[in-house]
Amino acid sequence: MTDTSIRRSRISRIEITPVAFSDPPLLNVVGVHEEVALRSVVQMHTDDGLVGLGESYGDAQHLARMQAAADAILGEDPFNTQKLRLRVAEVMSRDTVSGGHGMSGMVTGSATADRVFSPFEVAALDIQGQALKVPVSTLLGGALRDQVEYSGYLFYKWAGHPDQDADPWGEAMDPEGLIAQAHRMVDGYGFRSLKLKGGVLPPEEEAEAIEALRAEFPDVPLRLDPNGAWTVETSVRIGKRLEGLLEYLEDPTPGRKGMAEVRRQIDVPLATNMCVVSFADIPEAIREGSVDIILSDHHFWGGLRRSQELAGHCETFGLHMSMHSNSHLGISLAAMTHLASATPRIDYACDTHWPWKQPDQDVVALDSFTFDGGCVRVPQTPGLGVELDEDLLQARHEAYVKTDVRERNDTGYMQKFHPNFDPSTPRW
Ligand SMILES: [Mg+2]
Repeated sequence: MTDTSIRRSRISRIEITPVAFSDPPLLNVVGVHEEVALRSVVQMHTDDGLVGLGESYGDAQHLARMQAAADAILGEDPFNTQKLRLRVAEVMSRDTVSGGHGMSGMVTGSATADRVFSPFEVAALDIQGQALKVPVSTLLGGALRDQVEYSGYLFYKWAGHPDQDADPWGEAMDPEGLIAQAHRMVDGYGFRSLKLKGGVLPPEEEAEAIEALRAEFPDVPLRLDPNGAWTVETSVRIGKRLEGLLEYLEDPTPGRKGMAEVRRQIDVPLATNMCVVSFADIPEAIREGSVDIILSDHHFWGGLRRSQELAGHCETFGLHMSMHSNSHLGISLAAMTHLASATPRIDYACDTHWPWKQPDQDVVALDSFTFDGGCVRVPQTPGLGVELDEDLLQARHEAYVKTDVRERNDTGYMQKFHPNFDPSTPRW
């Protein structure tokens, strides 16, 4: 006789482990990456023996919020992510701590509840997939592609951290350095599109770098992201200069009104992960006509299914989607890949910081992912399809215990070496 009883598992325990991994001195508008990047690893246990994984930021205040959220969802059904989200939102509505957003001043308006809920939603989906013996992409409606394309993420960078030897990537402070870096990305990972993190050097120099990359890689789509470093006037001037060379220009100027002004005057699609970072930002962005492309990021849009809700809004208003990235580990790469595989609206190659992390600095098995033609295969095993390596997790946690970094602070690190560095924008 068929057993028709419904089995209910419950969340019995949640471990949140802060971790640190080595990060090269990558420059951006607010400063420079410190020697270590912080992340947190969520292990969600159920009373029937499953363990789901999630990954998020590692800033101290964020960790405290995550702990409060974890306490609030113990005993709940990991299949009921709506209820999990409500519980987290209730706890966060009483939240009075500021900061701890994990972005070092570059994305500050994202919704706290969505940001805190995200790793628990991913862990719950991992559990659901394991219980049902299907990949997370199936839970998201099904994979439309068996691999997801990523873009190579270029940075201006110092040769190494001050007082240390040069790292294998070497210096990239001019077009020649960036071209060498781009070759490493293209040759090593097969990336078929390239993004330059701008907002570091005067805009004319960054435009020159894009022109040099175009000459070197005639067929590779290029993007530039000055992180709001430019005025509207500068954005229009440089935008016009780069018309026809850029696949999109990301956040040239701060704010939805300024972006709309730029967008009216140049013939280059505008993308953002700064002026539209939560659902509350969408109505004004649509009214103003601020952007063409929203860069989703499940870490601050509330998880994988909330990111798919964002895709629905984008479809309604004729916007397109790409994907934003922070320094991340393999758990997040798996989550990003499942999401992009099952979300047709994400129709540009996604950002990833993956190549900037040494392979032995992760918490998942070293051979969990390979990039082929810039693409990562969508995991086919149940759940997220990645397994935690306990020794690697322990090593990364020990690195966290050893460092005195407790929140990402690119500006403070830059000011150690350049005391007059001012992170204000627009700068040019
Ligand atoms: Mg950006």
